Amino acid sequence: MPLPEGMDASEIKAKPRRKFSFRAPQQSYTVNDFELGKVLGVGSYSKVVRARKKDTGEVFALKIMDKRRVIKENKISNVKTERLVLDQLDHPGVVQLFFTFHDAHHLYLGLECCDGGELFYQIMKKGRLSVDETALYTAEIIEALEYIHGQGLIHRDLKPENILLTSDGHLKLADFGSTKMLKPLQDVFIQIEPEARTSTFIGTAEYVSPEVLTSHPLTIGADLWALGCIVYQMLEGKPPFRGTSEYITFQKVMAREFMMPPHFTPEAQDLVDHLLDLDPERRIAAVPMGYDALKAHPFFSRVKWSQLRELTPPRLA
Ligand code: ATP
Repeated sequence: MPLPEGMDASEIKAKPRRKFSFRAPQQSYTVNDFELGKVLGVGSYSKVVRARKKDTGEVFALKIMDKRRVIKENKISNVKTERLVLDQLDHPGVVQLFFTFHDAHHLYLGLECCDGGELFYQIMKKGRLSVDETALYTAEIIEALEYIHGQGLIHRDLKPENILLTSDGHLKLADFGSTKMLKPLQDVFIQIEPEARTSTFIGTAEYVSPEVLTSHPLTIGADLWALGCIVYQMLEGKPPFRGTSEYITFQKVMAREFMMPPHFTPEAQDLVDHLLDLDPERRIAAVPMGYDALKAHPFFSRVKWSQLRELTPPRLA
């Protein structure tokens, strides 16, 4: 089967990356080069499996996408975006893409393997995270977000299912298929024209910001709103906005209708309150140099920002 229409081979060819021991720069891999292990996760148009390179023993997460399904579910642009975006990113808080290849029926992305699973499962298993655990995880997410926003990118589908843990317990952002690239790349604070209204929206109901629902211009504020929802979910065990249907969830989001749990510390309440501001421009960190203000928030008073990745992360459940 050829590549889906709109994709060319250069967009999905083997591309060994730095920090990876493959020698031949343009060597093409096949799925037979790998011993496939357990399924790490299933997405709407992909399956991700643990894969060991037979000759070197190196382990990857192989994201396998069925070409027919990619076409049928209209996900070609997601695949292209994820490939393009991951190729340009290099940060400890972002899942690394090492190579890509395709065969008759599938497209493959060779990703850094995050054996610790999804942040979602850590919250599920622990019920709620402590303030210290939440502060450390949030700090790692913030560092990664500051980096991707600095690259002129908005993730647009930030949620605990798309935040993965390494086996040693550090966090990595994943699933860049919905990412929006700001233009010009130098100015991350400019706004993007709203996209044409469609019956669906990009993102996930519980984490979508009010301005996205009302087709206002997209800014990095959309990711900061999602971050507010995730901080809340880590501390409370469930996201702030959840209805019995997507429609009801949207109503709650637009009305900013949520309950601040009394067990939240004043610092946690203040942080959530400032991230979940209905006005995206007033969200903490949504203005130039805003990340300094976010990092200086009292919720992070015990976080050593300069040593984040050297600190012992929360124990995996
Ligand atoms: P979605 O339906 O959310 O758009 P998708 O088809 O884009 O999904 P991903 O979200 O990238 O697929 O991956 C699906 C799941 O596979 C993730 O939620 C996660 O559990 C697992 N997964 C993805 N990448 C990795 C990785 N690098 N290491 C370990 N597990 C991973």
